[in-house]
Amino acid sequence: MTASTDAAIVKLEDVHLSFGQTQVLKGIDLTINKGDAVSIIGPSGSGKSTILRCINALVTPQSGKITVAGTRVDQLTKESERIQLRKRVGIVFQQYNLFPHLTVLDNIVLAPIKILGADKTATVKLARELLEKVRLSEKADAYPGQLSGGQQQRVAIARALAMKPELVLFDEVTSALDPETVGEVLWVIRDLIRDGMTSILVTHEMRFAEEISDTVVFTENGRIVDHGSPQQIFHSTNNPRIRQFVGGLS
Ligand code: ADP
Ligand code: MG
Repeated sequence: MTASTDAAIVKLEDVHLSFGQTQVLKGIDLTINKGDAVSIIGPSGSGKSTILRCINALVTPQSGKITVAGTRVDQLTKESERIQLRKRVGIVFQQYNLFPHLTVLDNIVLAPIKILGADKTATVKLARELLEKVRLSEKADAYPGQLSGGQQQRVAIARALAMKPELVLFDEVTSALDPETVGEVLWVIRDLIRDGMTSILVTHEMRFAEEISDTVVFTENGRIVDHGSPQQIFHSTNNPRIRQFVGGLS
C-alpha cells in the first residue's frame, strides 16, 4: 500500500456497528488502495463478514465513515442508492447461490442484462471470456447441479466479474468446498489479483493469504488488532494471540 490517500478505493474510519445490544464492530479503521489485495483473518465471530457487508452497503454502521470508490456509503439513505453502490462492488459468498434452472452462461449474463441494461450480444461475449478466465469454457451450457462445488464457485466469481466491479469482496469462498476443489478456486482468485483487481478476502487459507496479499488484517472481537505485510503478520508479529492463530506457518 502507498501512503497516498488519493489511491484509496475503500476507507473505513472509526466504524462502530451493533446488532441490538451486541457491539460487533468497535472502531474499525481500514484503508485499501486501488489494485491492492487485502486479506482479513481472525477468529469466527470477530466481525470479518460484517466489515465486508458494511463496504457493500448490506448493513449500515451506527457511527463512523465509510468511503467506497468516492461514495460515502454510511450516508446512503435510499435502497436505490445502495443498489447503485452494489453494482460497483462485487461480492462472492461461501454459498454460491447460482440459479439452478439457468445454464452457467445464463447465470452470468442475467444481472448485467437485467440490472445494468447491458447489450445482450456484448454480455454473452464477455461471459464467454470470463468463463475462459475461470477455466470453465466447456461448461457454458451446463446447469449448476451438474458441476462440482469448486466449479460452481468459479461460476459465481465469473458472475460477479460480469458486472465489471471496481473491487471484489470474497467472504470465505472456499470454506464450504471439498478439499480437492479448493485449489482450483484459489487459482482463479490468484489470477484476478495478478491482473490487478482490487480484492478484499476473508479467508482461513493462511498460506494463500500469505502468498497473494499486499496487506493482512487481523481482527478479533470487533477490532483490528494488527495489520501489516504477510511477512509481518505471519512471521514477525510479537502479538501472542496472532502467533497462536496463525500458528504452524513457518
Ligand atoms: P465473522 O465473519 O468474523 O465470523 P461476523 O461479522 O459474521 O463474524 O459476526 C460478528 C458478530 O456479529 C457475531 O457475534 C455474530 O453473531 C454477530 N452478528 C452478525 N450478523 C448479525 C445479525 N444480522 N444480527 C445479529 N448479530 C449478528
Ligand atoms: Mg464470516
